Amino acid sequence: MVNTSIKTTKSEEIFAAAQKLMPGGVSSPVRAFKSVGGQPIVFDRVKGAYVWDVDGNQYIDYVGTWGPAICGHAHPDVIAALKEALEKGTSFGAPCALENVLAEMVIAAVPSIEMVRFVNSGTEACMAVLRLMRAFTKREKVIKFEGCYHGHADMFLVKAGSGVATLGLPDSPGVPKSATSSTLTAPYNDLEAVKELFEANPGEIAGVILEPVVGNAGFITPDAGFLEGLRELTQEHEALLVFDEVMTGFRIAYGGAQEKFGVTPDLTTLGKIIGGGLPVGAYGGRSDIMSMVAPSGPMYQAGTLSGNPLAMTAGIETLKLLQKPGTYEYLDKITKQLANGLLEIAKETNHAACGGQISAMFGMFFAPGSVHNYEDAKRADTKKFGLFHRGMLERGIYLAPSQFEAGFTSFAHTEEDIQKTLAAARDVMSNL
Ligand SMILES: *Cc1c(COP(=O)(O)O)cnc(C)c1O
Repeated sequence: MVNTSIKTTKSEEIFAAAQKLMPGGVSSPVRAFKSVGGQPIVFDRVKGAYVWDVDGNQYIDYVGTWGPAICGHAHPDVIAALKEALEKGTSFGAPCALENVLAEMVIAAVPSIEMVRFVNSGTEACMAVLRLMRAFTKREKVIKFEGCYHGHADMFLVKAGSGVATLGLPDSPGVPKSATSSTLTAPYNDLEAVKELFEANPGEIAGVILEPVVGNAGFITPDAGFLEGLRELTQEHEALLVFDEVMTGFRIAYGGAQEKFGVTPDLTTLGKIIGGGLPVGAYGGRSDIMSMVAPSGPMYQAGTLSGNPLAMTAGIETLKLLQKPGTYEYLDKITKQLANGLLEIAKETNHAACGGQISAMFGMFFAPGSVHNYEDAKRADTKKFGLFHRGMLERGIYLAPSQFEAGFTSFAHTEEDIQKTLAAARDVMSNL
């Protein structure tokens, strides 16, 4: 193998110092590269499809700050609008006309959303939606799926995906039993299991929450009929269906997975893309349910920085860019080239692999067969993925540092970037 080892001295110095200052040296666990081994690189700046580390190395980025950067990093339109908004101040803590603009765009785009509340993160959106599910139905139990991640609130840290899966934690200490005792879990794509839970808990289940396309246990798509079946079951039991589209919203399609699959939930959570790289989250849905939220109704939920003008501005500009004709066709085209290319290379180099892509989201597991749920995903060869990840990094390709995360493209990625990525993958897989 050619010696492609890159110089990362400064990254190593900074990360060593960070480990004395912050737990694990990071502000969010997966960033520490624990599951792929080796040291994380420390970013200096980002632009378009690329990131640069503090040692000056350039990478093609498929993490996109975990989803928000679908227009590419630091898009000039977003930056220009932010500069203008910045001059007017960073936070109002009072009504701001920009909230109306983003709310109108979100409502027009997402089929289930008639009214929306802005918060500061996906975690917050999911916490609030859970409270709302319970407040509206006057029931306490909720069903979530193994490997789905809905942020780090206590009630959701049961068989959760993302960092929880990456680190192999079944659960987290510090979460009281009482917090999760009303959280029921089922395997993803298993309608029968959901049916059984409804039958075993008659009149007690507030609703079902899921990632309509999973990105936090690796990339897993819903089997034909799964989303439709959940819609029927929840209606039959007068429970709510909630799509957590924090990741899939404006990525799987402009109107999210619900537009793509034609299944309309009662409530939806959003985040990531709608903040254009600034901290944001949102939850919305049917007006009769959303009217329960304070001050219109009795369900309390608030936020000092919620709806702040910078996040609203970045979100508005990002959605405007996504509305341009051809955007999603382009995203689908390049992401398909990438995902299919990776699978072909794996086959040619005799590595068992499976995966796929929808729109600007993709994934590949080093596992035979196909992956329909978290149990299947766990069969993947994470050691091999770690070596693949490191090899790609050394060739200037930045992939999510875990087998259990989806990959993201942006419309700043060119076909040339994809070809370079595939050439690197061929080189790495031939030597694995
Ligand atoms: C990222 C994510 C969250 C959590 O959002 P944060 O902004 O990280 O709190 C929740 N649900 C899904 C599906 C996500 O991908």
